[in-house]
Amino acid sequence: MNWRSHVAVGILFAIIAMLILGTRDIFALILFGIIGGLSALVPDLDHDASKGRQLLDYSFIGFAFLSAYMSKCGREVCLPSIEGIANIATVFFAIVGMYFVFFKFFKPSHRGITHTIIAAVAFGFLMYLFAGLEIAVAGFAGYFSHMVADQHIRIV
Ligand SMILES: [Zn+2]
Repeated sequence: MNWRSHVAVGILFAIIAMLILGTRDIFALILFGIIGGLSALVPDLDHDASKGRQLLDYSFIGFAFLSAYMSKCGREVCLPSIEGIANIATVFFAIVGMYFVFFKFFKPSHRGITHTIIAAVAFGFLMYLFAGLEIAVAGFAGYFSHMVADQHIRIV
């Protein structure tokens, strides 16, 4: 199944889950639908050519740059010296390098651990810690929908 279909099914699952939980606010349903659609891409991060992986690659470079910048400047806007720029570059390449090494050598096999109920629960739990219960339910519904759409559901 291609990524567009996964997004569509994820949106549907998340909206149905939120309707079951009693959400009637249209904007909340749209937001939860988007979260469900994005979450439906997460299980295929173990697949190099997946859309989720491409999005992750790009956003990770942004994340690495921001982290490197903030390690020097904190939350302030600052103009680092030449030496500061060298420090930022060092941190940036260290973070990007770790990401590369992880996916090069520790990448889970396709439709392995990421396509399990355990992974969906772990994903939902992480969302719960960072964003609260409702978003976690939408995220879990989207993630779970991926396995249903793949017709590939395993407990572990
Ligand atoms: Zn898949």
